[in-house]
Amino acid sequence: MWNCENCGSRNWDNAISCHKCNRAIAEQQLAARKTVETKAAAERQTAEAEAARARDLTRILERLEVFEERTGVRLDALYAKPDGNSGWTINGNFESGIRINGEVHPREGTSLTKSLKVVADAYDDLGRLICTTDHFFNAETFFGFATFSLLVGGVPTKQITKIRIYPKVGW
Ligand SMILES: [Zn+2]
Repeated sequence: MWNCENCGSRNWDNAISCHKCNRAIAEQQLAARKTVETKAAAERQTAEAEAARARDLTRILERLEVFEERTGVRLDALYAKPDGNSGWTINGNFESGIRINGEVHPREGTSLTKSLKVVADAYDDLGRLICTTDHFFNAETFFGFATFSLLVGGVPTKQITKIRIYPKVGW
C-alpha cells in the first residue's frame, strides 16, 4: 500500500496513480519503493549466501604444504561439506559427518615415487584431535592422478572446527 502525497488516500501497491485524485505516483515514491525492494533482495541474497556457506565447509580444511612437497604430490580440488549419509549415531541420535573430496597429483610426471596415504585429522575448538581417517594410494597402480573421498565424524559435526589434510608416505 502507498499513501497519495496529494490527497492522502491509500492505494494498492500495483496502482500507478491515485484512485481518488488520479495523481501519478511521484518519482520519490517510486524511488522509495525501489529502495525497499532492493533491500529485500539484498537480504534474500545474504540469507542464500549464508546457507551456502553452512553447506560448504572447505574453509575449515588446512593443508600442510611441507608434507605435500616432501611426498612429491599436490592436493587439489579440495572440497568439504556436511554429509548426511554418515550412518553415525551418538547416544542413539543420528549424526552427520563431514565429507572431504579431493585429488592427488604427482608434482612431476605421472607416478608416485612411494605409496602414500592422504590423512584427514579433525580437531575441535580446544585443539583436541577428535577424529582421524585416511585413504591409501598404491604407487604400483597409480597413474596420472587419483581422487579420494574421506568421511570424518563419530562426534557431533559442529564440534569439528579444523581438519588438517596431508599426504603421508607408507601404509
Ligand atoms: Zn490522491
